[in-house]
Amino acid sequence: MRPLLLRRVPESDRRNRSFADFRVSTSPTRLTMIETVIFYFKGFLITMESYAEGLCYNSYMAHKTLSPAFIKPNNPILIKLAKAIPSAEITAKETKETISKMLKVALGEQMDIAKPILVGLAAPQIGISKRIILVDVKANGKGIVGDLRVYINPEIVEVSKETAEWYEGCFSTDRVCGVVERAISITIKAFTPEGEEVTEKHSGYTARIFQHEIDHLNGREFVSHIIDDGKLHWVEDGQFPEYRNKEGWRNWKFLCPREKWMDIKGMSKKSITIPVYISISHTLNGIRCIRAARDIKKDELIESSPIILIPHQEQDNLDDTVLGSYTYDWNSAYGAFILGYCLLTNHSFTPNIVYKRDFEMLQMNYYALRDIKKDEELFVNYNGKPHDTSPLEEHYTDYKY
Ligand SMILES: [Zn+2]
Repeated sequence: MRPLLLRRVPESDRRNRSFADFRVSTSPTRLTMIETVIFYFKGFLITMESYAEGLCYNSYMAHKTLSPAFIKPNNPILIKLAKAIPSAEITAKETKETISKMLKVALGEQMDIAKPILVGLAAPQIGISKRIILVDVKANGKGIVGDLRVYINPEIVEVSKETAEWYEGCFSTDRVCGVVERAISITIKAFTPEGEEVTEKHSGYTARIFQHEIDHLNGREFVSHIIDDGKLHWVEDGQFPEYRNKEGWRNWKFLCPREKWMDIKGMSKKSITIPVYISISHTLNGIRCIRAARDIKKDELIESSPIILIPHQEQDNLDDTVLGSYTYDWNSAYGAFILGYCLLTNHSFTPNIVYKRDFEMLQMNYYALRDIKKDEELFVNYNGKPHDTSPLEEHYTDYKY
């Protein structure tokens, strides 16, 4: 017999979050004619300088005229493992559509003279969590571009032991730049849009672009390679000629504190404070409960709890143990352990919170159904939907001892 706390959830109840709404707003602030001319002229000068002196790795730099297709730096897609394209779909229409979307964005960035030149792009950067990248293999760090290639399911199969430092920036990291150590040469394997498998060796600047873009597919940004705080920089658009062309990055004074980076990514301490505490329930004697540590507003996200997936077969074995009472159903193949305070929330048919599965991020999210006062006990309907009054045997998850 399954413990009652295993809540089977209909497929229709699945929550597939779309992140399309989180796009960068680029509507420019209103500029006067003169300001507009100065703005573009400045951009033109910066671009010219980069052409003249080279080092076009600035191309990743976020700037005022960034294409709206780019998702914001705090979008969770950027920290996700992107999905491989199944071999049968490499030449499929949907893949072609993704590629043409990427090329449109990339070429737009390359052709606009007021913008830095783009030399690489990963699909997740425009909100598509698939393993496709663009790399301009002619980008030599001397201002030359012109051979933007598509790589599907790219993999680094060999890296040189020798490494080198150079600065990096990114369209997905705001104005954060920094000095990153990378292998100086790599061998990659990938598929072309025609479905042909290719093996290529790249070195120097192009090898760096590949490493940067493939990192994106693994949910990694260049910042995570930087251990030394002195190598994490803040660079405004106008500072680029100095930072990049004059190699100012080697001794840059304007640092980006880690907290600032965490804020940009939405990972600051503030955002992960969970406004609850563990207490003893007044209604269920001796049973622990979860209370509000402060006033919580209706619809507020109370907690995003990571989950551990448990294959159903193993879940059946767990049913014979005390742990069986703590598992939730996740989807048709998996159950889930929830690693969060709200797992201990007691049941009520008149709940004040609700849980929602985030299938993309493998998290259980708990939201307030109404305003909740400080110290009030939190209740959730164990049936899932707040108004589902199907009978339950147990009204708590806590284990009596
Ligand atoms: Zn990037």
